[in-house]
Amino acid sequence: MRGSPSPTLRAAALGLLAAAGVLAISASARPLAAQAGDDALLREATAQLQAMIRLNTSNPPGNELLTARFLDSLFRAEGIESQVFESAPGRGAVVARIRATGTAGTAAKSPLILMGHMDVVGVVRDKWTVDPFAAEVRDGVLYGRGAIDDKGMLIANFQAMKALQRRVRAGTRLTRDVIFVANADEEAGGEFGMGWLLRTHPEAIRAEYALNEGGRTRVMSNGKRYVALQMAEKVSHVVTVTATGPDGHASIPLEGNAIGRLGRALAAIAAHREPTVLTPTTTRFFQSLAAVWPDAAEARAMADVASGDATRVEHGAAVLRAVPTLDAVLRNGISPTIVQGGIRSNVIPSEVSATLNVRTLPGESLDATVARLERAVNDPLVRFTVTSRGKDSPAMSAENEFYAAVERAARRVDPTITVVPYLSTGATDSADLRRAGYKAYGLLPFPLEMPDEERMHGNDERLPLTAFAFGIRFVTGIAEALALP
Ligand SMILES: [Zn+2]
Repeated sequence: MRGSPSPTLRAAALGLLAAAGVLAISASARPLAAQAGDDALLREATAQLQAMIRLNTSNPPGNELLTARFLDSLFRAEGIESQVFESAPGRGAVVARIRATGTAGTAAKSPLILMGHMDVVGVVRDKWTVDPFAAEVRDGVLYGRGAIDDKGMLIANFQAMKALQRRVRAGTRLTRDVIFVANADEEAGGEFGMGWLLRTHPEAIRAEYALNEGGRTRVMSNGKRYVALQMAEKVSHVVTVTATGPDGHASIPLEGNAIGRLGRALAAIAAHREPTVLTPTTTRFFQSLAAVWPDAAEARAMADVASGDATRVEHGAAVLRAVPTLDAVLRNGISPTIVQGGIRSNVIPSEVSATLNVRTLPGESLDATVARLERAVNDPLVRFTVTSRGKDSPAMSAENEFYAAVERAARRVDPTITVVPYLSTGATDSADLRRAGYKAYGLLPFPLEMPDEERMHGNDERLPLTAFAFGIRFVTGIAEALALP
């Protein structure tokens, strides 16, 4: 089965210890002791994640309140203060908090939020090989809708809170409050989730930093991992393309047929490529990734793209075109998603349309993209309308204690790992937070190979338990690095 990083990880850790001259006896005894504790923790966390997946929170309608009450009960059992907020019937959020007790004379730092969402996207039931809401474990892999998006992260965040609470009970004073937030309605825009919380209870979630979903921990083809920490995101817009033409009976073919016109327009849109644009985040992303990327030609292309030299940038971008996930961060993206038109098989319609999902890079103008599409289509009977315009949000910095904490925590779990700043093509709640002044970063703490990563929102979504264990240790490490003295 794919995704069993733990043996290689342990071997790598032991290798380092041996290289550092640590006595063989302590090198072997330590991992064994740690392993027993990890196993018990993983068993508990797995049962909690299974319970979460079995509570079907497909959005719409969401019904997140069930999961909110479940999480609330977990916190109460640990003696952590927790509150459920109801944003609409059956919907809501959980906010739990461990307070900084602070030492006399030192003010606590501004809080840290560990956040995630409880709703999931729906399933195409007959495309799954298992029941998507049964949370079955097969060969060490947990299957279920929400396993990686985003219930796994909620449980990893809960386990991080629990680890901090243990430290507090043992007498450690936290340097800042750590707040757990599980919200609703993320998959449908957040109107009853993060947007609602920010609007109605800003004081309950006031913080400096937020760790959210939206990044990746990727396993490359050579088995090495890198963490793509999301610091900026593309902005999602909807544009409608409408073609008009003469209507009439299908028995007389008409040259200006609107469907033919729309077809030509869509072909021109598909052939159009937006210009290559590098942002500070993507430049650093390609720079860091070039150093560890297993494919030599692609690694060279990444270095070219990050070089800032126009000829090299174009050359590198041409090579990376073969990798859609990398090409998508180099330019604005346009994906036709819906085609609509026609009412009967024997009637030529006078108007047909297509929906385009347009994703612009931060700081890029949607209107400029639409103008380029109009020129590419070059047909006065095809018009473009902006149906919904997304809002831009600021990019985060890699030069602060948060970024350093992620690097430190990642290396504690895997000494060979690289952390790279990442611009995500998907939109998250972090955009709202960034606009509200939070320093919000996105992570998916579970190391996944590409085929498993692509199951997010797809069929047979699944989480290898070794990756789950890795993610719990990773998130706990981040929280500890930021909140322990
Ligand atoms: Zn998600």
